[in-house]
Amino acid sequence: MQSASSFQVDISPPKIDGFADGTAGIPYIHLLDSGRPGPTAMISAVVHGNELCGAIVAAELLSSGFHPACGRLFVAFMNVAAFKSFDPDHPDQSRYQDEDFNRVWDTDRLDGPATTREVRRAQEVRPIVEQVDYLLDLHSTSSFSPPMMLSGLDSRAVEFARALGTDHAIICDAGHKAGRRMRDFDRFRPETGAGISLLVECGQHWQTGTVTVARDVTDRFLRLLDMRDGPTPTANPDQTVLTVTDAVTVMHSGLRFVESFNGLECIPKKGTPIALDGPNTIETPYDNCYLVMPTRHALPGQTAVRFARKAGI
Ligand SMILES: [Zn+2]
Repeated sequence: MQSASSFQVDISPPKIDGFADGTAGIPYIHLLDSGRPGPTAMISAVVHGNELCGAIVAAELLSSGFHPACGRLFVAFMNVAAFKSFDPDHPDQSRYQDEDFNRVWDTDRLDGPATTREVRRAQEVRPIVEQVDYLLDLHSTSSFSPPMMLSGLDSRAVEFARALGTDHAIICDAGHKAGRRMRDFDRFRPETGAGISLLVECGQHWQTGTVTVARDVTDRFLRLLDMRDGPTPTANPDQTVLTVTDAVTVMHSGLRFVESFNGLECIPKKGTPIALDGPNTIETPYDNCYLVMPTRHALPGQTAVRFARKAGI
């Protein structure tokens, strides 16, 4: 774990105890039903307990008395137990309790025994997630990366991300070897489900600007679905779309990057060293290679960084 002095925490976790009962039969899951036809959407917060921006936006939405103009909107606090353990002096230590909630969404694991608290919570919220047509899953990153919209390998999600009209890069990726993310759950896979999901990395975990991004994306999401009054977002034709080609899995403890990469850097030349992993030097595999989510202090078996290229190149 990184030492506490490495982090600056500029935002505070909102109080969410008042949302504990929920209105969908499950703690901390709220259903806002317009009573009119329309899609079923979800805004998801704290899949990772120390990523505060989603919790702030979800709490604001519920506190404001928001009522969707059509369809149904679930507002969900996911890994609440981890979120409640957030300590600003050790802000990196509340990502999860037993295991990463965003790696347990393989159907086999959800159908199996609740071996961890995260699996138990995923099993609890699964019947709700299975109803969702449009998922906005709000996250943040440890590095000071520009915001990114993770669409998975789903062209429908890429188009949905474009329709939101931001200038955030869209990242097409297959996820993690360590287990399936909620955004890749069967409901949101083109071959198995009708739902469309976007995971948005809004910025660094504890920066005020990250909350601003989360608010903006949420507002666009609600307007695009006609749930909130206001102009429909206009797609940005210049939005960058990157396709992840490789995920670098850490092989040795103590992997370190040769520079303090934040993410979305474009490395012009193939073969440029970017990290040292034990005796191995990790190099870029092609020209104009983008680095996606370089993770300092990643442990063996975890993803250290992904390589990506611009779509169409
Ligand atoms: Zn996250």
